[in-house]
Amino acid sequence: MTRSTRSTLTNRPDRPPAYDAALTDEQLAVLRGMLEQQRAFRVDQLAQLHRPGTPGPLGSANQEVVASLTAGARAALHDVQKALWRLDEGTYGACTRCGEPLGLERLEILPQAGLCMPCQRNADDDTGPARPGRVGGRDRSRSSS
Ligand SMILES: [Zn+2]
Repeated sequence: MTRSTRSTLTNRPDRPPAYDAALTDEQLAVLRGMLEQQRAFRVDQLAQLHRPGTPGPLGSANQEVVASLTAGARAALHDVQKALWRLDEGTYGACTRCGEPLGLERLEILPQAGLCMPCQRNADDDTGPARPGRVGGRDRSRSSS
């Protein structure tokens, strides 16, 4: 059934056939640029956080803040790096959990996104802020097909 649409859309040997809804090379290039910018930004941020002898406004009482900033920057850098790997692999733009296309809109806002919205929501429920006694009962009421 879906066979016929495929040959007309994609005659690209360089891309897996599952990527009919994939982004154009141009869009990918723009997103790659955004990711590389973010990577540079995070690398820079981490370097600054770890530069010894930089007198921060709060001195050493700032340790915890630095630690949490570092953790955040590292996590962000990790996400960006993974997205760049997916770009190289050719799997960029699809949800890493369910394989659905993420959509250009989402990627433009969050180029390092690896999960589609529903999966992201589930992931947030799983690993997000610790809220005991509340295990993902939220999606029940509004399941927008
Ligand atoms: Zn998904």
